[in-house]
Amino acid sequence: MTLQLGAQNYSAQRIFCIGKNYAEHVKELGGRAPGQPVVFMKPATCLVSPGETIRMPAHGNNLHHEAEVVVLIGTPGKDIAESDAASHIAGLTLGLDLTLRDVQSDLKKKGWPWEISKAFDQSAPLGTLTPYGDTLPLDNIPFQCSVNGAVRQTGNSGEMLFAIPYLIHFLSGIWELKEGDLIFTGTPSGVGPLEMRDRVTLHSDLLGTFEWTLA
Ligand code: ZN
Repeated sequence: MTLQLGAQNYSAQRIFCIGKNYAEHVKELGGRAPGQPVVFMKPATCLVSPGETIRMPAHGNNLHHEAEVVVLIGTPGKDIAESDAASHIAGLTLGLDLTLRDVQSDLKKKGWPWEISKAFDQSAPLGTLTPYGDTLPLDNIPFQCSVNGAVRQTGNSGEMLFAIPYLIHFLSGIWELKEGDLIFTGTPSGVGPLEMRDRVTLHSDLLGTFEWTLA
């Protein structure tokens, strides 16, 4: 998928996702705060543009919305220092890490990988990117997720257990980050089920408003 950022195009590469990155969300799932970032991935073929219809996946019953701040890497790098992390960011937006919660719970119990609960087709709706500049405060991005007009999740990037610069530092210690890589940075509390015909809206005063409908 091609990601547009102003006049520039990026070819989407890997989608890194961070789990358990907000204390209140860790609590609502009954877990414990991790000692290091919890990382999983989705293929770039999971991305869905704003306004596109999302089909309910058939292999589970409890599809949850997870609203997240998403980072687009513009400058490649390996072993990036936290202090230098911001210079590798090209853009920011909001996205949904759609999760089949019933399937995930079952996989967790078995100790199996999460892919079929997290990385299915259309599991990564992504908003339009805003160029990252000095005016966007990485540690103070307020955002919310509404379903049919009712607010379900309210968060702020400042509440992350592992902040964006640290996530870039951590991931780049394992993978050489590429232009076009995306990082879904984790979800605040308030995750919940979506039903057929629901309208999901992501909003941030700093990043815009994006909407999807389930069919
Ligand atoms: Zn998530």
